[in-house]
Amino acid sequence: MSVQHNLRSNQLERQGLGRESASSGEGDLLAAVAGLRGEVKFNVSLRDLTSLRIGGPADALVVPEDVQDLCRLVKQARSAHVPLFVLGGTNLLIREGGLRGIVVSLSKFNAIQKEGTQVLYAEAGVRMPTLLGHVISCSLSGLEWAAGIPGTVGGAVIMNAGTHLGEMKDCLQAIRLVDPKGRVVKCSASSISFTYRRGVVPAGIVVGAWFSLTPAPKPKIESTTKSYLRYRKATQPLTRPNAGSVFKNPPHTSAGKLIEEAGLKGARVGDAQVSHKHANFIINVGQARATDVVVLIKKIQQTVFQQTGVTLELEWKIVGDS
Ligand SMILES: Cc1cc2nc3c(=O)[nH]c(=O)nc-3n(C[C@H](O)[C@H](O)[C@H](O)COP(=O)(O)OP(=O)(O)OC[C@H]3O[C@@H](n4cnc5c(N)ncnc54)[C@H](O)[C@@H]3O)c2cc1C
Repeated sequence: MSVQHNLRSNQLERQGLGRESASSGEGDLLAAVAGLRGEVKFNVSLRDLTSLRIGGPADALVVPEDVQDLCRLVKQARSAHVPLFVLGGTNLLIREGGLRGIVVSLSKFNAIQKEGTQVLYAEAGVRMPTLLGHVISCSLSGLEWAAGIPGTVGGAVIMNAGTHLGEMKDCLQAIRLVDPKGRVVKCSASSISFTYRRGVVPAGIVVGAWFSLTPAPKPKIESTTKSYLRYRKATQPLTRPNAGSVFKNPPHTSAGKLIEEAGLKGARVGDAQVSHKHANFIINVGQARATDVVVLIKKIQQTVFQQTGVTLELEWKIVGDS
């Protein structure tokens, strides 16, 4: 599988890169990571890099030092036919077999800078809570909806992260990408097709995003944000490993309501459990395996369909080999 194909498959939601790419051998991997300045590790468990604390190993994990390092990785991986998968880790279920090829963490892409009075540029590895804190310190409004969303800026663009209060597409001005040939390009938000919890960006790896925000009194932004965070704490199982809402809300109703009405709160397969606090969250109450979670997901979908005729669609992405 080519890098170009693989990068695009991320955006097109082909869930799992494994089977088609399982052939990338040790030599290919070494060629893909040769000369990188960032951290490179082989056969790395991804479990602790996910908020659900589930997942098998990556053939290699690379933490590029900077954009130039990432460009080099993209070019070399493309030549060596090694697939890349960018990991933030908070909206994913990774199967036990893990991910073939190279998992890329953008954790060193963490700069934020103000451009003019209303525009902020954040690198793709910045966590949304960090970005929100920065936005508040600049007395800028427009990202309050993101309070409590734990993913990275890059992941939030790809998932069009949001709540009923707002979403990424409302304040995104443009993104910076490393395209499949390893070139840095800028794309305006108008070139991205946003739907409910998905942003279809041109093929590549998002390395940064520009946000268009509005000046507002800091106490007002702070108090709105704090009230959203209090609401989340009261209604979501934040003390247990989870990956946010499992299913998208169907039109005119909420997935949590349908699951609760189907009597599934507390339903359990192995150590995977439907949260008692919020039925659209699956929590890992111990050593849950990806297969437990998948069986529980199917059970929820079947029960809700039998009782209401509604097919619940996954918000999470499920990736990796079984
Ligand atoms: C407690 C909790 C609450 C949550 N609440 C919400 C909520 O209210 N609303 C909401 O929308 N989400 C919510 N989420 C889910 C999650 O935080 C968001 O979907 C987030 O945007 C995912 O970001 P991530 O960096 O973790 O991406 P991941 O989940 O790791 O990845 C998602 C996809 O994006 C791709 N990707 C990631 N980064 C890049 C990049 N830089 N370039 C190209 N592709 C990339 C990945 O390969 C993958 O295909 C919640 C999660 C938790 C744990």
